Amino acid sequence: MLYESSRGGVAGVSSAEAILRGIAPDGGLFVPQSVPELDLTGLVGCDYTQTAKAVLRLYLTDYTEDELDKCVQSAYNGRFDSHTPAPLTPLSDRLHILELFHGPTNAFKDMALQLLPHLMSLAEKKAGNGSDILILTATSGDTGKAALEGFRDVPGVKIAVFYPKGGVSPMQKRQMTTQEGGNVAVSAVEGNFDDAQTGVKRIFTSPAFAEALKKRGWVCSSANSINWGRLVPQIVYYVFAYTSLVRQGRIKQGQKVNFAVPTGNFGNILAAWYAREMGLPINRIVCASNRNRILTDFLRTGVYDRNREFFTTHSPSMDILISSNLERLLYELGGSSEKVRGWMEGLSETGRYGVDSALKSRLDSLFWAGCCDDSETVDSIKDVYERFGYLSDPHTAVGVKVCEDYARASGDKTVTVAVSTASPFKFAKAVLLALDPAFSSDDDFLTCERLSRISGNAIPAPLAELKEKPVRFAGCVSKDGLWEFIEGFLP
Ligand SMILES: *Cc1c(COP(=O)(O)O)cnc(C)c1O
Repeated sequence: MLYESSRGGVAGVSSAEAILRGIAPDGGLFVPQSVPELDLTGLVGCDYTQTAKAVLRLYLTDYTEDELDKCVQSAYNGRFDSHTPAPLTPLSDRLHILELFHGPTNAFKDMALQLLPHLMSLAEKKAGNGSDILILTATSGDTGKAALEGFRDVPGVKIAVFYPKGGVSPMQKRQMTTQEGGNVAVSAVEGNFDDAQTGVKRIFTSPAFAEALKKRGWVCSSANSINWGRLVPQIVYYVFAYTSLVRQGRIKQGQKVNFAVPTGNFGNILAAWYAREMGLPINRIVCASNRNRILTDFLRTGVYDRNREFFTTHSPSMDILISSNLERLLYELGGSSEKVRGWMEGLSETGRYGVDSALKSRLDSLFWAGCCDDSETVDSIKDVYERFGYLSDPHTAVGVKVCEDYARASGDKTVTVAVSTASPFKFAKAVLLALDPAFSSDDDFLTCERLSRISGNAIPAPLAELKEKPVRFAGCVSKDGLWEFIEGFLP
C-alpha cells in the first residue's frame, strides 16, 4: 500500500514515510492510493488487538506482522481501565454508546496516541536516517495530554507541548503540568490556541530551525490528527463496534448500522468513512457539531465558509473552524488533486470554497449533519441521564442529540452507535449544570467528587490521582518564545 498527497505533489510514499513526515511536502495530507477491502468473516471472534492487527496490516504493509503484533500489544494491553479498550453500552434496542475514553487520559485521543509512538519509532528505523525525533504539539486540551502520555519515555523521542494560557479547562491544565516522564516538556503560551498553533507551525516550516535541529541529530514530527498514523488506528474501533453488535446478537452479520460522531477536526468521523469504504455495513454517518456549526453548514450547502464568529462552548474539543481532515474526504470522493488545491487556496485566501454538485450529492448520500448549542447540550446530558441512567460528557451529549434529531427528521430506524469521546469527569462542571445546577465550585476535584456522589460513578483513577501529583511545568512563554523554550529542552 502506497500513499499520495491530496494536492498531487507526491505519490508512491510508504506508510512509514507518511507517518514520519506527518504532512506532505506540498502542504497536502497523505491518503492511501486505494482503499483496501475488509474481510469481516473471521473478525466476529476477534478481540480488540486482533481486530487492530487485521485493519492495520491492510494499510501499513511495510511493517512486518511481528512488528504490528508488538505495537498493538504494547498500545492496548493493560493501558485501558475497561475489559476492552472500546466497550459498547446499550441505551435501547436501537441506540448504543461506543465508549472511547477508557485510556490513560480519558479522551478518545488515546485510541490512536497509545499506538502512534510505536509506529513512529519503527517508521524512523524504516524511512529515517537515524535521527532522534522531536514531537511538537499545540493543543487546545485533549491532544496534548494524550500525546505526552503516549510518547513519554519512548527511546529516541522528545516531546514538547504548548497550550494557550487561558484556553484549557483546569483539569486539562493539571493533566499537562503534572506530566511525568524524562523526555517531556510543557509550556503555556501567552495568547489563544491560534497563537500557540501558529508558533508551532512557524517552527515546523522554518528552514533555519530544521537545519539547527539536523546539526544536533534531530528531526521534527507531529502528533496531530492530520498524521495518517493517527487516522488508521481509529478505523479499528468502528470495525470492532460492528463485530461487537453481531457478537452480542443485536444485529445480524451484514445488517447496516449508523454511526453518530461528535466532530471537530474531522479525524474521528473520517475513520468511519474509511471503514464504510472498506466494506463495513454502514448506512449513514451522522456528523454532530456544537455552536461552531461550520461542518453542519458545509454538509448541508456544499459551501465551506470560515468567515464567522468563533464561540467557546461546553464541548471545547469541537471548537474549531478549520477541520483539516475534511481535505482527505474531498479528495477521496472524487475531487481531483487540482480541485482540492484550488479549494484549499480559496480557504487560505478568502476563508471560503464551494464544492461541485457531483461531490455534494455524494456527501448527501453518506452523511447527515446537525448541531446544537450549549443549552441544548446541557438538556441532552440531562435527558440521557434521566431516560437511560447514562452519564455523558458534553461532546457525547452533542452526538446523541444530533443523532436523535436525525432519526426524527428522517424516520430512519437503523440501529445506531453514538460515539462517546470523553469521560464526563473531564468536563464535570458542564455535566453538573445538567444534573445539579445549584452546585457551584471552582475546584475541579470538588466538582468531580460531587458528580461522583450524584451519579454513583467512580472518578477515573488517572484524574483522581492528579490531586497528589506535583506540578512540574508551571512556565509560560510569549508567542515568540517557543524556539528558545525548545532549545533549552534539547540536549
Ligand atoms: C478531539 C475531540 C473531538 C473531535 O474529534 P475530531 O477527530 O477532531 O473530529 C471530540 N470530542 C473530544 C472529547 C475530543 O477530544
